[in-house]
Amino acid sequence: MYAQVIIDITHEKLDRVFTYCIPSELEGMLQIGMEVLVPFGASNKERHAYVVGFSDTCDFDTAKIKTIQKILEERVGAEAKLVALAAWMKEHYGGTMIQALKTVIPVKKKEKPKQKKYVRRLVSEAAGRERLAFFEKKSQKARARLMEALLEDEEISYDLVTKKLNVSPNAVKTLEEQGILRVVTEHIYRNPLKQQREETKEFVHTQAQREAIERFAKDYARGIHKTYLLHGVTGSGKTEVYMEMIAKVLKRGEQAIVLIPEIALTYQTVMRFYRRFGDRVSIMHSRLSSGERYDQMERAKCGDIDIMIGPRSALFTPFANVGLIVIDEEHEQTYKSEQVPRFHARETAIQRARMEGASVVLGSATPSMEAYYRCEHGEYELLKLQERVKARELPSVYTIDMRQELKEGNKSVFSAKLHELMEERLAKREQIMLFLNRRGYSGFVSCRSCGYVPKCPHCDVALSMHRGGKMVCHYCGYEAEAVIACPSCGSRHISGFRAGTQQIEALVQKEFPEAKVLRMDMDTTGGKDGHEKILSAFAGEEADILIGTQMIVKGHDFPNVTLVGILAADLSLYTDDFRSGERTFQLLTQAAGRAGRGKKKGEVVIQTYNPEHYSILHAAKQDYESFYAEEMQYRSLMGYPPAEHLMAALMSGEDEVHLEKAAHYLKEYAFRIARSSEAGIVGPASPYVGKVNDIFRRILYIRHARYDILIEIKDRLEEYIEMNKGYQSIRIQFDFDPMGSF
Ligand code: ADP
Ligand code: ZN
Ligand code: ZN
Repeated sequence: MYAQVIIDITHEKLDRVFTYCIPSELEGMLQIGMEVLVPFGASNKERHAYVVGFSDTCDFDTAKIKTIQKILEERVGAEAKLVALAAWMKEHYGGTMIQALKTVIPVKKKEKPKQKKYVRRLVSEAAGRERLAFFEKKSQKARARLMEALLEDEEISYDLVTKKLNVSPNAVKTLEEQGILRVVTEHIYRNPLKQQREETKEFVHTQAQREAIERFAKDYARGIHKTYLLHGVTGSGKTEVYMEMIAKVLKRGEQAIVLIPEIALTYQTVMRFYRRFGDRVSIMHSRLSSGERYDQMERAKCGDIDIMIGPRSALFTPFANVGLIVIDEEHEQTYKSEQVPRFHARETAIQRARMEGASVVLGSATPSMEAYYRCEHGEYELLKLQERVKARELPSVYTIDMRQELKEGNKSVFSAKLHELMEERLAKREQIMLFLNRRGYSGFVSCRSCGYVPKCPHCDVALSMHRGGKMVCHYCGYEAEAVIACPSCGSRHISGFRAGTQQIEALVQKEFPEAKVLRMDMDTTGGKDGHEKILSAFAGEEADILIGTQMIVKGHDFPNVTLVGILAADLSLYTDDFRSGERTFQLLTQAAGRAGRGKKKGEVVIQTYNPEHYSILHAAKQDYESFYAEEMQYRSLMGYPPAEHLMAALMSGEDEVHLEKAAHYLKEYAFRIARSSEAGIVGPASPYVGKVNDIFRRILYIRHARYDILIEIKDRLEEYIEMNKGYQSIRIQFDFDPMGSF
């Protein structure tokens, strides 16, 4: 038997695994994640290593293979547990062990940690005076100066000693050797949270909050670790519930991880945790430097903090005793990684919790189909918060059929109802949010006469119209002058689809010239804290109307917003993705939830060309259960997750003919190995974006009710790919239960 190990896991050169022989006395004792001692390099220097896998065979000259010396007796550390988690991720999601390790363990960067260095007096004041007299008598002026300063202050900064007092480092060293002082170096971790802890308001929890907290507390006290789904509308007090649960976990000396989608990780949210738990809290986000991020992980490892808040990657915080992992807004797509291993934070969190004896709490107003399905099947426990705290009413919702508006001669993007309500709000000085169900630059150009859509010659996607008369490709950046007449039929009725946030902003300005407008989309939120700035400005009531994409439905609470307008609610229904109905329901429900969060009741206008679609009907009523039941029928009928599991094999290459052939053979092989298991195989097809930057793409879908069978098929396909030369120029990635289109 052989073991694969990695050396020095936090090093940048985490690029390969090494094979070692397992000595007979260690056979059967080694486990993945264990720390061992191995001889390494030409000089056979002893090094610490982690076991990451096993094999019966070995590709190298077996005579040259070195042997593991021993298992290090130390307790399994946080890192070893993460190595074991990485091994699970590799198995569960595909890819290599190195890719999995790089995901869970942050790489040490060569940035210097900030240090504080000072000099501390060790001798008593009396002894110090004696030394001072001695130095003065001997005319050792520098030493005397230092001694004098140390008699005044027991500790002085090292900089002060060498620069202001002009004492040489050598002189300091001499005094240190004489036992008079000590040079102390303290690591100062870069702490991204600098605020002071404040007094917290004490709440009387609602009945529903109390019940949820108690269910968790009871199980936790008895050592029962489960996954809970906290289903509560926005404003029902979920965050308060998380904080109570976390307090229980901290009391037992365990730690908590709180995952929040990056976009919702606003100053407001973080400060709530900080006010409650003080500087035992740390945050992670993409705007931190790699040095800051590394420091946060170090602080977690050495027990400096107990709570880590952050997006997906915070899941891998190396806490020694994780007691609770919270995933807020668990339905969010961003919890699925787009890089290999394409892991889902929900499943990976549950696995980490299982391995380390922790609980998981998922929270959402619109739970994912997966989470709710698992509650129904008894895998998770459902906790409900049905009402908003302080009995605030949910908003009234009006669904407007835009086809009818057109028939009645209204060609504007605003229905008569929305226009009327906007005027009313502006007069009352209440705020309005206009939500565009799409990314900001989706203004694709189309011909109203023949339907022609100009596309990027490299990427096969529609070009978007930008202000200034340019059409732009959002995959590769290709630009072209806007066309005046349709290249296909010659009609002059060709223009940008009126659905970009920029266009909406211009229209709002035209129809409501007195209104102050803010826009939030990919273009306006660039730069440090860009989106935070816009949200704070709107929260500070610096504008009457905020226009934005899905970004605006998260994060801040805006008590003065009493009207939410949802323009073109059905745009997200037309993506080529089996989750589009779910996504539409979530977006509409979350957007509607922004209205009336203050004392005044809110109203919501949903504009649609498809008012009878069940996603829109149930979102308008804020009726999750009915939506779930109907959507689940569709998923079961089609065999889509969560009814069954779906594995995508994404193939890409530069030679389209060769790619086509390789995809075809992979499918043939998949058919052969899947025959006995009755897996369904679809494709290979060109994905939605068939070509990006002149790289062609194909996709093969394999479906089965059992995940473990899909994993077996994946393992066989990986072997096949590795053995066949024809696949060398082709990149293949696996994606389980994919989210979104490729
Ligand atoms: P959610 O996370 O479900 O959107 P929050 O926890 O943010 O809800 O709660 C919404 C608002 O209500 C917050 O301002 C919060 O401080 C407040 N709140 C929560 N629980 C209570 C309570 N029991 N009594 C009074 N206010 C509460
Ligand atoms: Zn045309
Ligand atoms: Zn392009």
